[in-house]
Amino acid sequence: SIRLNLMELRRLLTHPCPGIQFHWMRLRITRMWQQWRRGVEEMLQEGKISISRRKKNILLHFGTLAQGNRLDETAFKGGPLGELVQWSDLVATLYILGHDVTITTEINQLGKLMADNWQRPVQASLGRGPLPYDLIFTDIHGYKQFRNTLAEAVFTKSRCLFRILDSFGTEAEFNYRPYATGYHGNNRSNTCEWGCLHLRLQQFYTMFPHTPDNSFLGFVIERHNARDGVKQTIRIQNQSLVYAKREYMWEGKQAFIDVIREFFDVHATSELQAPRHMTQSPIPEYVHNHYVLLGDSYQALLQQSKIFVGLGFPYEGPAPLEAIAMGTVFINPRFHPPHSRSNTAFFAEKPTNREVTSQHPYAEDIGDPHVYTVDINNHTQLRATLLRVLTRQQEVPPFLPFEFTVAGMLERMNYYIENQDFCSNPIRSHVPRNAVQGFVGAEGKSCNDVCRSNGRFCENTRFNSVNNMDFLRARNVTCSTVVSEAGLVYPSFVRQGARKDCFFQQNDFLFNCASKLEKHNRLCACRTFKKEQVALCHEC
Ligand code: UDP
Repeated sequence: SIRLNLMELRRLLTHPCPGIQFHWMRLRITRMWQQWRRGVEEMLQEGKISISRRKKNILLHFGTLAQGNRLDETAFKGGPLGELVQWSDLVATLYILGHDVTITTEINQLGKLMADNWQRPVQASLGRGPLPYDLIFTDIHGYKQFRNTLAEAVFTKSRCLFRILDSFGTEAEFNYRPYATGYHGNNRSNTCEWGCLHLRLQQFYTMFPHTPDNSFLGFVIERHNARDGVKQTIRIQNQSLVYAKREYMWEGKQAFIDVIREFFDVHATSELQAPRHMTQSPIPEYVHNHYVLLGDSYQALLQQSKIFVGLGFPYEGPAPLEAIAMGTVFINPRFHPPHSRSNTAFFAEKPTNREVTSQHPYAEDIGDPHVYTVDINNHTQLRATLLRVLTRQQEVPPFLPFEFTVAGMLERMNYYIENQDFCSNPIRSHVPRNAVQGFVGAEGKSCNDVCRSNGRFCENTRFNSVNNMDFLRARNVTCSTVVSEAGLVYPSFVRQGARKDCFFQQNDFLFNCASKLEKHNRLCACRTFKKEQVALCHEC
């Protein structure tokens, strides 16, 4: 049953060791508790959560913390918060949905929990089944910690239980070890830092719905109204807030900020890193810096501001959506050329070829009047945009896509928990057959592109439906040659004059939406999707 008593959850987040460990997460969950309650009540009223669900036993292991990357300690000093936001909201979601939740943040805790029988050496666990959990949420570090802790036989049997929090997403070619390690001659010998996990692609849970190859975990946008006791603030017409928690993010941005200042007072919440006497701060003197603020005060400052100004980094964080949800316009730096692993150090080791066209591609799609994506070095265009925002007659209304509300996150996660199953063999797709249609793509296009151009989303768990001769015959495609082998773009065909060489997929680990190859017309499985809840199909 649904759980609305916050006390129990607070107890769950009380770490036995001294220190601040879950402090930031506890503050966020407590602050947002009324929002969670309202969201779940909405779900219940609309009958969107079934009452006959089995309570699941779920383990959450926060591997990044266990690795010694103390996000919890830097949380109050300008360190990255996106991951803590996600973990907080994931814990809250699973708890509210009534599941049994266990949380670990240290390797020795994990070891103890796994108990002697589940640990190495292998002999101790031969003949054992998988771990006694229905699901295990962790991150990439955490997954490797499990691999090192568990007996191989147990680990192998348990792999299908894992769900990996993976902000930027993982594509097939970096997931499947023989491809990622260059076995196929693609010169990718260095990509196992984050890749090579060799899981089903939908076992990776992303921060934004980057690609339907992966599942979309997301998070909830924090919103307050008077009932929550957070004071309502009045918007200050010419106030801007710069999106930068750390001083280094300002480097090289002075000319851009100078233009912002022509129109707006410039505020910021940036932590200073170097002692001021040692280096010249890249934050201009005229900026009103509040340093990193805690939740309520930050939200109030954001709500007062007319615009929220991106500096190009961090990529794809929660903050721009919070701004848009308050009616604060987001100025989103455009990247030309797009940033990707081929040209940007930050993405170099990330297991994705995704091309990031601006600081926040999801916000970029939301667009006018909530978001303006601009070339920040083109000052003429920038001035025109700022003038347009400043002289707009009406207030920009708040906008919050359903998928980032409490109800949206609960609906999506409840769906995944009840329906995704990566342990069955062969894999049972959670997407109903009638939600899926097959398409023959244009030459050189990925199935992501093919499905989108047909008003649908690609569905990699349903590629079996297009991986056969009947599918081609029904579309009057006659193959001159037929090959069945493993390949990233298969099933597909290549036209050579009047002949067509057809390729079918032999390795279902490689079914994916993102890959493309010159000359190949891919065969794609595409599903319906709900507006503002793109992870789910209409029939799901
Ligand atoms: N935030 C905050 N205080 C501040 C600035 C930001 O609490 O002074 C919060 C913000 O509300 C958001 C979170 O930090 O929920 C993560 O923000 P960001 O988009 O910067 O992502 P990150 O780079 O930290 O992952």
